[in-house]
Amino acid sequence: MQVATIRTEAGLRAVRRDGNELVVLPFDHVGGLIASGEDWAARAAHADGARVPLADADFAPPIPMPEKVFCVGLNYRDHAAEGGLPVPEYPTLFAKYGRSLIGANDDLRIPGASKQVDWEVELGVVIGRAARHVSEEEAEDHIAGYTIVNDVSMRDWQLRTSQFLAGKTFEASTPVGPYLVTPDEVDHAHSLAMELSVDGQVKQRTTTDQMIFSVRQVISYISTIITLVPGDLIATGTPAGVGHVASPPTYLTPGSTMTCSIEGLGSQHTRCVPASEGATVAA
Ligand code: ZN
Repeated sequence: MQVATIRTEAGLRAVRRDGNELVVLPFDHVGGLIASGEDWAARAAHADGARVPLADADFAPPIPMPEKVFCVGLNYRDHAAEGGLPVPEYPTLFAKYGRSLIGANDDLRIPGASKQVDWEVELGVVIGRAARHVSEEEAEDHIAGYTIVNDVSMRDWQLRTSQFLAGKTFEASTPVGPYLVTPDEVDHAHSLAMELSVDGQVKQRTTTDQMIFSVRQVISYISTIITLVPGDLIATGTPAGVGHVASPPTYLTPGSTMTCSIEGLGSQHTRCVPASEGATVAA
């Protein structure tokens, strides 16, 4: 099943995809749907409501304001290598705030403060059941579904200090969605093709089985630190092909367009616009 959060004249609404239509569910967003109880998927699958043509959908992030957004840095060998960095011994974790998230097809405002805006297609994992001290074997029981994250990064801000946060959590900079896809539809995302293009040119292409730390390992690891709660989002790292280490380095500027896709999860289409234009945060 594919669920999403769309913007309507009445505000945000959770929807379930049914072919070329979206069925409106009695929740403001997918976060509310997931939090409504462990049988949320079964109830959503059978719920009926108003229908919106898919072509008219204005996607917000599936969970507009998660309690937590964790990101894993350097989780693909080829990406660590292209940055001249060793394969890490432990997951490199950093965070984003909810205000950084935008919808799958929203415009990306290029901040005037950064001259090095870069792309990172990633598999996103959404937590469905609270996870504290869970083993790797148990971890998948805590997943609501999978989505696409473009961990857009302001490299000049990211690399000013040893902490990545400043370059990773700019306002309205991280496309998420369009859908949250339940694990049964994509075999827990064990081996999905993943690709990002800029202006029609493929920059990143890999499969999710190339991760250094698997989704199970990452969930178990984070749950040792803090409780993951329903709606929390984990961006699981990006493969090689980012613009910062290209020769010459290449960055996003107003007028650039990006397409991100992951097999079975859909695709994102992002237009880069000057900071003065474009979408604000979804919520
Ligand atoms: Zn990333």
